[in-house]
Amino acid sequence: MKQRYLITGGAGFIGSHLARKLLDMGQSVYVLDDESTGSSTNVASLMNSPDFRFVHGSIMDDDTLARLVGTCHFVVHLAAAVGVKYILDHPLASIMTNVAGTERVLHYCARYEKPLFLASSSEVYGLQTKAPLKEDDFCILGATSVSRWSYACSKALDEFMALAYHHKKSFPVVIARLFNTVGPRQSPAYGMVLPRLVDQALREEPMTVYGDGRQTRTFTHVSDVVEAIIRLIGAPAAWGEVYNIGGTEEIAIGELARRIGQAAQSRSEIQFIAYEKVYNHNFQDMPRRVPDISKLMQATNFSPKIGLEKIIADVISDRMAQQAEQS
Ligand code: UDP
Repeated sequence: MKQRYLITGGAGFIGSHLARKLLDMGQSVYVLDDESTGSSTNVASLMNSPDFRFVHGSIMDDDTLARLVGTCHFVVHLAAAVGVKYILDHPLASIMTNVAGTERVLHYCARYEKPLFLASSSEVYGLQTKAPLKEDDFCILGATSVSRWSYACSKALDEFMALAYHHKKSFPVVIARLFNTVGPRQSPAYGMVLPRLVDQALREEPMTVYGDGRQTRTFTHVSDVVEAIIRLIGAPAAWGEVYNIGGTEEIAIGELARRIGQAAQSRSEIQFIAYEKVYNHNFQDMPRRVPDISKLMQATNFSPKIGLEKIIADVISDRMAQQAEQS
């Protein structure tokens, strides 16, 4: 039977890919997005589908949110502040969207008894350096004077709220901590490293690596992330649980820059820049962030299919097309 999915933040990078996939699966999709970081252009190709509806609006608008939650079968809550740069530039708005906005989404999902997928973030692990990170590992957050941790803290609070709703009201919610997700349509404007380095390489500008470049991450292609989300949505045993969604190939950012330069056949040099020079604010980075995805694999049989080489190639062709359009 056709189900109607409400995707908050559905005009964003991940949401727009998820919307496309759900429509391809024969489902109906409503998107609620205030276009603060997303854009209706991300879903322009879906607008003609009779099963798709785009609503420009905010999760903070109770009437709109209540109406949409009431008419859908399932809610995917992706609306949130994105990107370290954006969060540092808009700390208060980020906290309000993440905490007050998510509380509203939970409230209406519980009231109308609609199951919910809640997107959290690997940021909640904070300065935890253990690798790989398991869902029940300690979250180690830095001082409140370091603005970055407000995001981690607000996402952790979202998780606490969702789990409290689940335990108190038997409300069906599944929580996923997304690790660095990359792929076509990700904007470099909010600080994300991969589209930024690719843009720089294509323009033959210096590739900016922050710190000594030895900090590591794993990168997951958005189509793998969308697949994991869809599998979790379809797994009732996952209600009330938290899952990591991420890749398994750990890479240092300096090495990532080298590989991007090579793949783009660029003459760009790698420029190491001290964190203090990049962020005016008091800033702390995570030296290492690698997920343990065994819990996800066990629940859904999921494992990421797209390796780093193909991820880089995909982002290069996407950014080439974007740059050609802009020029
Ligand atoms: N980074 C970098 N150059 C850039 C942007 C980011 O070296 O132009 C680094 C950043 O300091 C971090 C890593 O790349 O160590 C990943 O950054 P991103 O903002 O993409 O995601 P994060 O994992 O920090 O949320």
